Amino acid sequence: MGNNWVAFKGLLETLGAQVIVPPRITKRTIDLGVKYSPEFVCFPFKVNIGNFIEALEAGADTLVMVGGTGGTCRFGFYNIVQKRILDDLGYKFDMIVFRDDNFWEILFKKFRKIGEDSSISKIIKAFRVLWWKAKVISEIEDLVRFNRAYEKRIGEADRVLEKALMMLDEQKKVKEIKEVRSEIKNLFKHIPKDLKKKPLRIGIIGEVYVRSEPYVNLDIEKELGKMGVLVDQKMSVYKWLKVILRIDLERAWTARRARPYLKVNAGAEDQQSIGHTIKYAKAGTDGVIMLYPFSCMPENIARGILPNVSRRYKIPILTFSLDEQTGKTGMITRLEAFVDLLNRKRRR
Ligand code: SF4
Repeated sequence: MGNNWVAFKGLLETLGAQVIVPPRITKRTIDLGVKYSPEFVCFPFKVNIGNFIEALEAGADTLVMVGGTGGTCRFGFYNIVQKRILDDLGYKFDMIVFRDDNFWEILFKKFRKIGEDSSISKIIKAFRVLWWKAKVISEIEDLVRFNRAYEKRIGEADRVLEKALMMLDEQKKVKEIKEVRSEIKNLFKHIPKDLKKKPLRIGIIGEVYVRSEPYVNLDIEKELGKMGVLVDQKMSVYKWLKVILRIDLERAWTARRARPYLKVNAGAEDQQSIGHTIKYAKAGTDGVIMLYPFSCMPENIARGILPNVSRRYKIPILTFSLDEQTGKTGMITRLEAFVDLLNRKRRR
């Protein structure tokens, strides 16, 4: 899930596990996922199957997965069906599933048994490492977005991003993470920038997984950055942790904003997509791009409503439905046309 592997690896290593991070997603990952998944299932499910197979091939004996609490979205049965598919393929493994309603139970019961130390203080330490690494990743991603829009030499921010993630990954303690956080901020500060630019501002909304994983969204943020666009994204693992701890007030407010258009949460980010679009429009953002997996039920509901929001708040919205068939060239052509339209709108 994008750069977030660093935070989860930190959590598991602090607990005493030997962590095998699946290789970065490639065409092979997607091919494996497509081959062994039901054809009609949503795209993230297929990518996960590919990730799992590659992790098991690399020697993993336990898979850690997040799960939904059932309800309307298919996410609720992802882990159950995935486990069955992998069992049928003959892999021997255990699967630990984190849901928002069992997060603490898994952390304090299952994860406590990992490694030799089973003290509560080990769990607290591991959670703090997860929290801080997730926080720094979220900050790094915001810095990359900002620097891409203003950098003088295209690609500098991405070069620093790779370095920053490696630096963060190497830190084992919260004190070290805090120290490296300042070093990382300094690295971004030293990227030569043209701050006189007035870049277009585009907010990205939609389903969380496709927004977070660059291979799956065809590196849309990077492509927009190359076009000199300042991208904004409101979702990260750090924010998800705040939701679990019930300290994220923004999510409830955003859902409230969406309610005149969609009274109930049909799953995933549907109300958030609508609420954030309204928020972006009120903040004077130039446009919004929605990303969602082909056949994603909740985001298709939001997508059907968004034209009304676009008309009411006069904010242009571009949508991309993503699956294994989506091509990058077509996406870039549509992005260029959208950026052109937003530039003309701004000049007017
Ligand atoms: S949010 Fe969409 S893509 Fe994700 S599991 Fe639910 S229906 Fe599938």
